[in-house]
Amino acid sequence: MNKIKKKTKVKRLINTKRRSIIKRVKKSILKSLKVLPQPYVNLLNLYKTAMESGTQLRFGRSTIPISRIVNQFYCEQKFEFTEQQATLLNNEAIKLSDSHELSKQKGDEGHTADLPFVEHKTEDEIWIAAFQKNRKIPVSIREFHGLFKFDGFYINGSIDSAVFHQGKALSVSEFKFRPSLRLYDTDRIQGNLYGLLLQNLGFDTSELIIRLICFNSNDREVALLTNKYFPDDGNSLKEEFKFNSSEANDKLVWALQYWKSEREALKTTHIGKCRKCEYSLNCRNNKNPLQMELPL
Ligand code: SF4
Repeated sequence: MNKIKKKTKVKRLINTKRRSIIKRVKKSILKSLKVLPQPYVNLLNLYKTAMESGTQLRFGRSTIPISRIVNQFYCEQKFEFTEQQATLLNNEAIKLSDSHELSKQKGDEGHTADLPFVEHKTEDEIWIAAFQKNRKIPVSIREFHGLFKFDGFYINGSIDSAVFHQGKALSVSEFKFRPSLRLYDTDRIQGNLYGLLLQNLGFDTSELIIRLICFNSNDREVALLTNKYFPDDGNSLKEEFKFNSSEANDKLVWALQYWKSEREALKTTHIGKCRKCEYSLNCRNNKNPLQMELPL
């Protein structure tokens, strides 16, 4: 009798052990089958389409970075000279910077903390956290990359820092490192265009705040750390405003006229900019018949 009892006990133990192993395996399978948010799946498909499209834009680009578009608003002619020179000097590097691979690499390195609730995450985990419905605390990301299609063009951008909560984009921060504490209209346009990027990526941008921060330092990491622990130490200048979608839209429509070759590059009418411009000699020899005001 005792023998039978012992056998049953052993059998039960084996079954319990087996059940717990099955439970653990099931859990790990479910974990590996994480559901990616649809906007992220769309983005991955868009990266693929953009790379396969083989689009050849000005300067051999297949996508147009927001950080480049912004320079058109300072002086489009200067932007063109700079891009032509860069294309000549560094054709391969420019092509590479268009690829998602590089942006992904950079992104993986750059997803580091700058706010208390930041977590180190992979690209997949970032998107899952940004859209997670029951998440209690926001997720803050450094170097957030994205791409969207606008009027047939692929526009890409890398946001210095962004905060998300349950599918809402709460803030975008753009950092500038300058010898003097100054923010320009081009910075405001850049911040607003990043808002447009997030909107097109599928985030709710109804409460999105654009934050511009200029640091009086050449050392990016030291400046960011100082700002984190001593936010009002006088070594930075901050400005924030609400994202304006229609304004960002209008700016992009204007900038793309140049990429569509609907007009020549426009020259600034601010003589002060020309005085300190390294291309002033070339520019004077090459008068632009379409001298118009830049839309600033
Ligand atoms: S000289 Fe003036 S107009 Fe010409 S590229 Fe330079 S800033 Fe622009």
